[in-house]
Amino acid sequence: MYTNLFDSHTHSENSPDGNHSVLYMCEHAADIGLSGIAITDHLECNDFIKDNYRARIQQSVFDIRRAQQLMGDKLLISCGIELGQALQDKDAALEILNTYDFDFILGSLHALEGKLDFYYWDYSDPSIIIHDSMVDYYQQQIDLAKWGHFDVMGHITYPIRYIWGKNRIPVDLNRYMDLIDELLRTLIEKGRGIEVNTSGLRQELGTTLPDFPLIKRYRELGGEIITIGSDAHYVEHIGNGVEYTMDMLREAGFKYFSFFKGRQPRMLELA
Ligand SMILES: [Zn+2]
Ligand SMILES: [Zn+2]
Repeated sequence: MYTNLFDSHTHSENSPDGNHSVLYMCEHAADIGLSGIAITDHLECNDFIKDNYRARIQQSVFDIRRAQQLMGDKLLISCGIELGQALQDKDAALEILNTYDFDFILGSLHALEGKLDFYYWDYSDPSIIIHDSMVDYYQQQIDLAKWGHFDVMGHITYPIRYIWGKNRIPVDLNRYMDLIDELLRTLIEKGRGIEVNTSGLRQELGTTLPDFPLIKRYRELGGEIITIGSDAHYVEHIGNGVEYTMDMLREAGFKYFSFFKGRQPRMLELA
């Protein structure tokens, strides 16, 4: 039983695939006993204009500020954003990052340069070569890590959610260990963290993203900053898998996990 439960990755109705209001999410988080929540609505830089992200983020930040006022000290609320594909439209990314005073920036890669989000791929298409896509994925994540305008990299095994989780095409991550090590080392050198995304526990995948071996590897390489996020798009998924992940982090050798306020990691004891 843990008393300091934090969820650092959630989406409100201001994300194209979100469903509930920020205030409803915050009230629910407090009701189920969380100490803090980060609202991290999507900013998919490659679709910045098409999906109207300028207005979406403005509304998200407004809603979060309002919720902070209304919730008072009942819940710690981090004003976050999930910054997707920043290198595919750096101007859009920097415009939004310079406009708002975020507490937390989750840097993610959902789509390779010029391609659709892995979620939308037709995996029966014979022209898709999974191995090449995985290599591209890690190389583009390394580039994103080098750019570095974020706090924590989101779900570093994202394609696995769809390739193995949904489509049952096996992927051996050991083939990419050199690239994964380079990614983790780059993040550590730059003072950035990784997240453990618990969404896979309630989906076909059945594990966190990343799973235990990579979490352990990050620790072995000296990684300390690690957040836990449900990636909830519905209130009922908020907080999901957080305690399970805290146990896993302890087993991997961590003494602390992180929750961000004012772009600084609060190191919270795994106790
Ligand atoms: Zn994501
Ligand atoms: Zn997300």
